[in-house]
Amino acid sequence: MNSKEIIKISDKYLMHTYKRFPIALVSGKGALARTADGKIYLDFFSGLAVNNLGHCHPAVVKAIHIQAGKLMHTSNLYYTVPAMVLAKKLIGLSFPGKVFFCNSGAEANEAAIKLCRKWGNPKKNEIITMKESFHGRTVTTVTATGQTKYQKGFDPLAPGFKYSALNDIKALRKAITNKTTAIMIEPIQGEGGVNVPDVKFIKEVRALCNKKKILLIFDEVQTGIGRTGKMFAYQYFGVKPDILTLAKAIGGGLPLGITIAEKKIAGVFEPGMHASTFGGNPVTCAAANAVLDTIKKEKLLQNANKMGSYLVKRLNEIKKKSPKIKEVRGKGLMIGVELKEKGAGIVKECMEKGLLINCTAEKVLRIYPPLNVKKAEIDKAVKILKGVLTR
Ligand SMILES: *Cc1c(COP(=O)(O)O)cnc(C)c1O
Repeated sequence: MNSKEIIKISDKYLMHTYKRFPIALVSGKGALARTADGKIYLDFFSGLAVNNLGHCHPAVVKAIHIQAGKLMHTSNLYYTVPAMVLAKKLIGLSFPGKVFFCNSGAEANEAAIKLCRKWGNPKKNEIITMKESFHGRTVTTVTATGQTKYQKGFDPLAPGFKYSALNDIKALRKAITNKTTAIMIEPIQGEGGVNVPDVKFIKEVRALCNKKKILLIFDEVQTGIGRTGKMFAYQYFGVKPDILTLAKAIGGGLPLGITIAEKKIAGVFEPGMHASTFGGNPVTCAAANAVLDTIKKEKLLQNANKMGSYLVKRLNEIKKKSPKIKEVRGKGLMIGVELKEKGAGIVKECMEKGLLINCTAEKVLRIYPPLNVKKAEIDKAVKILKGVLTR
């Protein structure tokens, strides 16, 4: 089947929840993705920050293959080796605490929200999140999301959420009441437009949480697992959260959500209080173990930093010649290019020239190559971007 045929049948049977591009992808290798028509694209969006090792990394494919032949599912009534190994690895990489496995970013945040409410129960149950944030699409996490455009029409929303502006510590201080149990923040806002908070602000939030006995949740569903050039983006700010949520890249393309909480907080969950049938599935955990091992073995954090600096430098060169670019920002390979105009047309033009990128918050191009991207691939992407942005 060619793309046109696949699209026609898909549109007939799939809910129209996505504005899809008119191509059907059939295979991928590293930073390259191939369509049903045989056209090859340079994929600089990595499946929405999921394919951090590129498409079909051999180590991940092998781990999935081996585990799928051994044991695919057990339910959480029994212990398994891949989940044990992964939980231990994650605690080694983050902070002393305990891990809960689920299947998506929204669910990881949902578990974090339930933990904070249980922890604050019965006195404290309110959570403050940031304006322009994104935390998921379930009723509770879309309420946590500080953007009304995602909430419209889904009333009644979940009670107990308040929003405060990023980098405004005074407003945040005012928003806190004796009912506040947690503050939830993305260390770099993704969907909101690759917004990097001030280090000072994040440090002040941490101090405020300590002083008022409020839990701090970092939603690293998009920023985590090396995307920003560090394993977790919070490592740029010199502060640790009480609860950390992960998803997207950790499963190497398989669905895996993770909530990590400090030991004392994790302890408020007793058997039967929270669960996920597929959470910690042996195959997804085996894939995640391969992702973490590969990042270390192939020194991908170093590559993300090196290639990220190079790409930002090249993008700033384009900015000098382009009347369209307002700002280039981000960390590592989580790069946002804010335009002075809407960016959907730019994304479409790049696609026509063989480059896949994304636009969020109407005007911000998101450029998220895999962490193992090569300099030659960046040069090729820059050539396309330059042509489109300086035209
Ligand atoms: C993508 C995302 C989510 C939601 O993850 P899903 O797996 O789609 O449920 C939550 N938080 C952030 C920061 C995200 O980028």
